[in-house]
Amino acid sequence: MVNTLVYKFGGASVKDAPAVTNLVEILRSRMDQPCVIVVSAMGKTTNALEDLLSKKLAGENYLPGWQQIKEFHWDICTALFPAGHTVFLSLEEFFEKASRILALPISKDSYDEHYDQLISFGELFSSLIVSHFLQFNGLSLTWKDAREVIHTNSDFRFAKIDWDKTRSSCQSLWSPLLKNINILTQGFIGMDPNGLTTTLGREGSDFTAAILATSLDAAAVTIWKDVPGVLNADPKLFSEAVKFEELGYKEAAEMTYFGASVIHPKTIKPLANAGIPLFVKSFLQPEATGTKIHEHAKAHEVPTLVLKKNQVLVSFKVTDFTFIEETHIHQIYTQLQSLKLRANMLQVSAISVSLVMDAQLFKLEQLLAGLKKDFEIRYNEDLELLTILKPKPEAIPGLMHGYEVLLEQSTRYSYQAVRRKG
Ligand code: ASP
Ligand code: MG
Repeated sequence: MVNTLVYKFGGASVKDAPAVTNLVEILRSRMDQPCVIVVSAMGKTTNALEDLLSKKLAGENYLPGWQQIKEFHWDICTALFPAGHTVFLSLEEFFEKASRILALPISKDSYDEHYDQLISFGELFSSLIVSHFLQFNGLSLTWKDAREVIHTNSDFRFAKIDWDKTRSSCQSLWSPLLKNINILTQGFIGMDPNGLTTTLGREGSDFTAAILATSLDAAAVTIWKDVPGVLNADPKLFSEAVKFEELGYKEAAEMTYFGASVIHPKTIKPLANAGIPLFVKSFLQPEATGTKIHEHAKAHEVPTLVLKKNQVLVSFKVTDFTFIEETHIHQIYTQLQSLKLRANMLQVSAISVSLVMDAQLFKLEQLLAGLKKDFEIRYNEDLELLTILKPKPEAIPGLMHGYEVLLEQSTRYSYQAVRRKG
């Protein structure tokens, strides 16, 4: 039996030429088992590509931004490869294809589909450059298009995996190949039944790593990050963050659900079902232990703090002097579901339902339009949602100092507050 390892490298780990060079060092001593290497778009490329589409939609000039994206990748190649290397030609071909998609007319209705066709190029550029550079440095691997094995439905931007089809393609196309050579591929992207490119949701490359690991019966997944592992809080926001040596799947999943950005929320479940351990390690300190997420982690009492920014608080008040009933909640949830929105926090009172959700382009407008005839709706934007798991009640006032709290909720296991700087 082959013990395939899956390694995932995110945007920060391939953000420039020195970063790409660092991958060679990390991988050189870690490729004695069959490996699948998953890479995301370089640095902030996905945001930059998104920005082109927003500009285009607004009728603004997106060409300077597109020029910058091309130059960014071209310059990385110039720093990594000798003149005349084949990577330049291949990159140019990808630029051509992306330019053609970018030139197509775009409307609000076609936005999601258009988005996936274009945004996926971030991963294509990156995987092309990284695979050539690793090969150039003597590592044995082949570039593969993830869309050949990652099958999804046609929910553009949030495509759902067709697990059976994906597994069968992985087993028939990639498993045999892995007996002879390692694979380098793209995170985040898949293909729908019509052969169109789909994406799995922002930061979805972690999820790709988990999908491939389960579909290839891999032995372990390692996600390489710019942090030492999974911390109990974002060190940029809370100074006393500590690293977990290990975590249970359930706890890790819960942290990601509430917004911990260290791992994509969909990553844990497939790995937990298959019992595949997930390591989160630092590409800056590859020898350090990182965090192991697995089934047999020891219980702990360390509070975990998760902050989700860019939140909107919406309250729906019944207008006809009745009280909130199940039908109202059902009505609101049906709208949320049809807009693919999720309530990150929900509170029901006698006459109103309040919910907190991520701010998303067009979505608030649509939600309000769908419900305004039955409810009086108010909303506040630019908020943050703080969730504390295993909270220590005495520490909460200190954490809320300097903030205005708009909504608060606590149970024995968690505390949540929607707040803004006051
Ligand atoms: N490049 C994509 C993004 O930035 C996917 C990923 O990084 O995981 O969202
Ligand atoms: Mg990224």
